[in-house]
Amino acid sequence: MPTAESCPATHSAYDGGMSAHPATTTSDAPAPGDRTVLLAAPRGYCAGVDRAVITVEKALDLYGRPVYVRKQIVHNLHVVRTLEARGAIFVEELDEVPEGATVVFSAHGVSPAVHEQAQERGLKTIDATCPLVTKVHHEARRFADDDYDILLIGHEGHEEVEGTAGEAPRHITLVQSPDDVANLTVRDPNKVAWLSQTTLSVDETMQTVGRIREQFPNLLDPPSDDICYATQNRQQAVKEIAKGADLVLVVGSGNSSNSVRLVEVALESGAKASYRVDDASEIREEWLDAVESVAVTSGASVPEDLVEGVLDYLTERGYPAARAVHTAEESLIFALPPELRKDMRAAGLS
Ligand code: SF4
Repeated sequence: MPTAESCPATHSAYDGGMSAHPATTTSDAPAPGDRTVLLAAPRGYCAGVDRAVITVEKALDLYGRPVYVRKQIVHNLHVVRTLEARGAIFVEELDEVPEGATVVFSAHGVSPAVHEQAQERGLKTIDATCPLVTKVHHEARRFADDDYDILLIGHEGHEEVEGTAGEAPRHITLVQSPDDVANLTVRDPNKVAWLSQTTLSVDETMQTVGRIREQFPNLLDPPSDDICYATQNRQQAVKEIAKGADLVLVVGSGNSSNSVRLVEVALESGAKASYRVDDASEIREEWLDAVESVAVTSGASVPEDLVEGVLDYLTERGYPAARAVHTAEESLIFALPPELRKDMRAAGLS
């Protein structure tokens, strides 16, 4: 059962309450006493994002600037800008990296072809792929080795999907929605397996799997959930806070799949309105018209200070301190990439 309590993250900004931040009310605005702000817990950074960001920071400390990063290390604009300021250079492809330089692969993973290209160019690589994405890569290789056709549920063009599909390109077919299922063709209907991107909507993915199974009753499941614990926990948390909320604000970037899913889940769960914002500056005043109950959450790649900025924004407009609603505890931590740990040990930094 979820529990509600005072949010520790809100103390310094909210102890002053409304007297410190007089509300900017309009005639149809609810009285401040009727207002509520709920805050999802868990929210924000997952173990894979934390590891990827620390990997770039440690690489900068260890090797000096610049350190190249292929693609955005995680899908968050603020994280990318902060690391750029410290000396990271983000590139789209490896041909933009000078030969012999150090390059970090992002949390979303890369295909074997990218590893080969890095080797050909003599690049020093550090692989910050989330271990839960690597697990899906292993599953893809195993199904392909057993000569299954693999239906990969995910979004075309997403880096994680490109990386996973690259593990077994001749065996994998992308399925983007339940509507795609009717047009699927496979070599042998009795040798079909499915996998998914880690950051999808749990409910929609299960719907898609149900349709696939209707068509291929002997469908083979992955050995464990591909949609990761962090995605599932954040969706469960937003379901709790969205029930009956006038407005759900999701902090996260537009290219962050799990953040975009949180908006969809909030609306499906009963929120009257839900918007994604990169930070408080993107909130529009009119979204708060006649709004009593606001709920706030953030995607798995979002630093907590951006959430605090949104809560500050609400406080400044007469909303009370946020109450956290806990639906799960998270304690998972991933070790840094082994190649980085080895160099840190050699430099006496670990
Ligand atoms: Fe890993 Fe899940 Fe975080 Fe992606 S959202 S980095 S799969 S823990």
